[in-house]
Amino acid sequence: MSALSKLLNKDIKVPSPPSIAMNLLKAVKNDASTYKEIAGIISSDPALTAKTLKIANSPFYGLSRKIDSIERAISVLGVTALKNIALSFTISQGFSGRSSARFDFNYFWKRAITAAIGAELTAAMIGKRSDDTFVTGLLQDIGILILYYCLAHEYAAVIAEKKTTGLPISQLEKEMFGFDHQELGSEILKEWGLPETISIPIYYHHHEKNIPEQWESQSQVLFLSNKISSLYHGAYSSKNIRTIRPILQTRYGVSQEDCDNLIDAVANKAAGVISLFEVEAGELKPFSEILQEANEELGKLNLSYEQLLIEYKEAKQRAEHLANDLKEANDKLRELSIKDGLTGLYNHRHFQDLFDTELHRSKRYKTPLTLMMIDLDHFKGINDAFGHPVGDKVLQSIAKEMMECVRATDIVARYGGEEFAIIMPGTGSKNAAITGERLRKAIEKMEIAAGGLIIKTTVSIGVATYTPEEKECVKSLILNAADKALYSSKKAGRNKLSIASI
Ligand code: GH3
Ligand code: MG
Ligand code: MG
Repeated sequence: MSALSKLLNKDIKVPSPPSIAMNLLKAVKNDASTYKEIAGIISSDPALTAKTLKIANSPFYGLSRKIDSIERAISVLGVTALKNIALSFTISQGFSGRSSARFDFNYFWKRAITAAIGAELTAAMIGKRSDDTFVTGLLQDIGILILYYCLAHEYAAVIAEKKTTGLPISQLEKEMFGFDHQELGSEILKEWGLPETISIPIYYHHHEKNIPEQWESQSQVLFLSNKISSLYHGAYSSKNIRTIRPILQTRYGVSQEDCDNLIDAVANKAAGVISLFEVEAGELKPFSEILQEANEELGKLNLSYEQLLIEYKEAKQRAEHLANDLKEANDKLRELSIKDGLTGLYNHRHFQDLFDTELHRSKRYKTPLTLMMIDLDHFKGINDAFGHPVGDKVLQSIAKEMMECVRATDIVARYGGEEFAIIMPGTGSKNAAITGERLRKAIEKMEIAAGGLIIKTTVSIGVATYTPEEKECVKSLILNAADKALYSSKKAGRNKLSIASI
């Protein structure tokens, strides 16, 4: 026993169609039934009658004369067409329910009605329309609905799996139940007494190949109608259009323009028909309109992409300016951290760093290094006599003079208060003494204009030179030696230069 017949026979109760649909089916099966009988069944349900007449008069059939009775509808549209209209209504009504997160009935029927219209229009275009086309299109996925009715829990898992994996629904159904919704739908419709012209194309509606020739075009109509419906209600629109066009073009010689018109016509007709089924149609725009809107959106997207580019460039420029500002600020900060605010000479801390570096270099390259300490003579007296600002001006002027007297490679620093230090890389004591003397004399000659006065001052200098021939020598040794030499100069009466021996 196949899985399907097991499902159909065992304890799982496959729902019956609503009684009115059952009566209709019975009447149609019975060749002896007259169209009066069928009209009687439809007329027994006023709501069904109203809907049937509405659809018979709708642009869907495009009849020129108004149809005001079921009998008239049967005589104009035929028994089969009318039976199918009535069946479509009763079955869709009977198999509806409250939509939940698990199953959306409205979505199911909206999709099914759109497919039915798609089937009708596609079949008409390729010359294969029959009275069964609409209802076949409508019921092609009834197997899905039945599976949900019978095995809601398992079917919800199939739907969830489809959403996450994107695998074909038939494959997932086969894995879960051993058969798919096409086989089930086809089998049930057969049971309900619907003709083979409906149940067999439904059996093949997902097949692209190996369809018995006799059923090929009808199955293909369903396959295409399903794709058209997905175009409007599914997630892979552009993928669907790439499937629809070549089939219609290569197998049925339909031009691309006609194909696109057909797809648009489905949307135009669907909205009205869907509402006749009391199903929410939502927004149903023709595909060409959707495409146009998508293009416009794309245009907007490009525009905003360009805007984005401009903004990015501006932001980049701003960032560059900011980086420049930051660099300047950093440079300034660094300068502040290494220089003395009053004289612009290197400060004491930086002097220490530079002295380390130069001593290291001197040892490595075996070059001499001189340190000169300079202290203003009786500077306190200048401050006391003329005020601090005058003293400041004197310090600034002396600093400037020192910078001018030494070589570019010499490093002049404010050691503290009115005391300065000059590091002279590559300078031996002899040359240092010459420079020191020149400096001492230059300062002695200076006439410093400050506070409306002309100030004259002198400096005492102490010089210490490190020569590479010497053995280990630490910084403090040179510093102390220079300091001692300076003290000697002071002791000797100031405005003097003394050379230390290390
Ligand atoms: P000596 O010849 O023995 O060096 O005498 P001196 O007066 O120069 O030495 P002393 O150490 O007694 O005084 C140094 C003065 O330098 C005291 C202090 O007020 C002044 N001084 C230190 N820094 C500054 C400064 O930045 N600006 C001014 N105007 N004066 C300063
Ligand atoms: Mg002094
Ligand atoms: Mg001093």
